[in-house]
Amino acid sequence: MTDRRRIVAGNWKMHGSLGAARELAGALAATAHEPGRGLPEVIVFPPFPHLDAVRRVLEDAESAGTLAVQLGAQDVSSQGEGAHTGDVSAGMLADCGCSHVLVGHSERRTAFRESDELVATKFQRAADQGLIPILCVGETLREREAERTGEIVLRQLAAVMELCGAGGFTRAVLAYEPVWAIGTGHTATPEQAQEVHALLRGEIARTDAKISAGLRILYGGSVNGANAAALFAQPDIDGGLVGGASLDAKEFLRIITAV
Ligand code: PEP
Repeated sequence: MTDRRRIVAGNWKMHGSLGAARELAGALAATAHEPGRGLPEVIVFPPFPHLDAVRRVLEDAESAGTLAVQLGAQDVSSQGEGAHTGDVSAGMLADCGCSHVLVGHSERRTAFRESDELVATKFQRAADQGLIPILCVGETLREREAERTGEIVLRQLAAVMELCGAGGFTRAVLAYEPVWAIGTGHTATPEQAQEVHALLRGEIARTDAKISAGLRILYGGSVNGANAAALFAQPDIDGGLVGGASLDAKEFLRIITAV
């Protein structure tokens, strides 16, 4: 039995206005903290221009003693600084109050053709600036049907292991997000997800058993209040990376309490 603290992360993607972001953050943060209930870590990932406003809302709520919600960014530059128009560096995100950052989300890998190597560089940049990277891995439907799921997720993981070693996962988080489950309503079954989570944990254990045992591995892909508990009951699923359902404060809180 491990004592890995669960995580529920909400990826808001490119949704909503500044006002809506403030309102959503306020609704989440206003939830009374009930000591002893073993609440998970909660992290929200607003769009870049909303980070500062959301940070203020979260800080105000925290000082009022309610649910502590951490702040993350949806992406980070692979570069430290310089002439990289449109990029946002890890240092800038840390300055904005971010503690976490997503790297390798499938929407970035696909739409922006981010390679495994680029994702690994982003992971390293984030970690170097003291951010906690959440590395997303996952296979497409075609890859699953061709029985290539294991090969794909291990290849995505290997790029980061090559650059940062297993030590890179001392603080970092992994997220298994089957591409066919993201935003589709087709959630992986708890057994399908557990199989991949166990594979990923086992791969890291081959290099470092202690880091592997402490590593939080999140499941993402159409998680909602109704299916969260069954997923989170699996031994290697340590929480969720939630897209659509994180935009509805009530539904997101259902997921948080399912943990
Ligand atoms: C995501 O964006 O990472 C995600 C898992 O989205 P959804 O929960 O909507 O499938």
